[in-house]
Amino acid sequence: MKIGFIGLGNMGAPMAVNLIKAGHDVTGFDTHASPDTIPLATSAEGAAKDADVVITMLPNGAILSAVAAQIHPAMKAGAVHLDCSTVDVDSARDVAQAADKHGLLAIDAPVSGGIGGATNGTLTFMSGGSEAAFAAVNPLFEIMGQKAVHCGPSGNGQAAKICNNMILGVTMIATCEAFALADKLGLDRQAMFDVVSTASGYSWSMNAYCPAKGVGPTSPADNDYIPGFAAELMLKDLNLSQMAAAAADADTPLGHAATEIYKTFVEHEDGKGKDFSAMLPRLEKRGHQA
Ligand code: NAD
Repeated sequence: MKIGFIGLGNMGAPMAVNLIKAGHDVTGFDTHASPDTIPLATSAEGAAKDADVVITMLPNGAILSAVAAQIHPAMKAGAVHLDCSTVDVDSARDVAQAADKHGLLAIDAPVSGGIGGATNGTLTFMSGGSEAAFAAVNPLFEIMGQKAVHCGPSGNGQAAKICNNMILGVTMIATCEAFALADKLGLDRQAMFDVVSTASGYSWSMNAYCPAKGVGPTSPADNDYIPGFAAELMLKDLNLSQMAAAAADADTPLGHAATEIYKTFVEHEDGKGKDFSAMLPRLEKRGHQA
């Protein structure tokens, strides 16, 4: 396939490289310097024109909308705009509508799996859009990822991503506060892990990404909390969950609390640049809040 790839940052560059390695004809574009292993156009339109699929991997909804307005008029009729960025649901739906007006297909397919997943081709894609659009890009999902779930119409990929990450933010905080409480109760962290990881408190945060150093599988806790998944990216996704909750009139009290806790951690404490599981050293230093 002829593929345009716009947004060659931490995630986009390795995803584009995997498509090139699989034999696809990829032309990239980024407003900043990009790896020299990816052939580049001098503009977003240049990367998009003649492409069967244009992939965007950008920081937020405002940038995605601006780039979509640039590339849609340049794309050939029937081509697919596959957006893999994490953005708000409304932007995803607006971009899909704009694509439709230009005779294009659109898929929103945010990912989980992080930079490691992007490099190793093991991402999970949560996608929203028509069956035809999903079928057209599925071979690309198979190269860049290990799993792609079609979640329904446009915007539903973003909806699935922010609901998943709201659970992740809440369970990580709950796991960390339980470890901090266990410390103060004189309970050994290994014993705590051995019980909880096989009891009803288990979760991905405890079992697969344990925030306590030297306990459970190797995780960022064993590497000075170098990300992994940075606390500021968790805050971005929690903020998106709260925008969506406000727009849909949904009550998400723990999602709201998790957002406030990560906001304080990232903006006023030392959380920026640390893995999101560094919530444990933060909580273990604190005392009881009345
Ligand atoms: P990044 O900041 O490394 O990459 C974004 C790239 O977009 C940058 O290279 C930037 O120069 C480029 N860009 C910005 N404006 C542009 C424009 N107008 N035209 C062309 N290029 C432009 O971010 P990332 O970590 O690669 O994340 C990309 C997306 O993936 C984000 O939406 C993020 O939330 C999501 N995501 C990231 C991770 C992760 O672990 N990094 C995990 C899951 C999802």
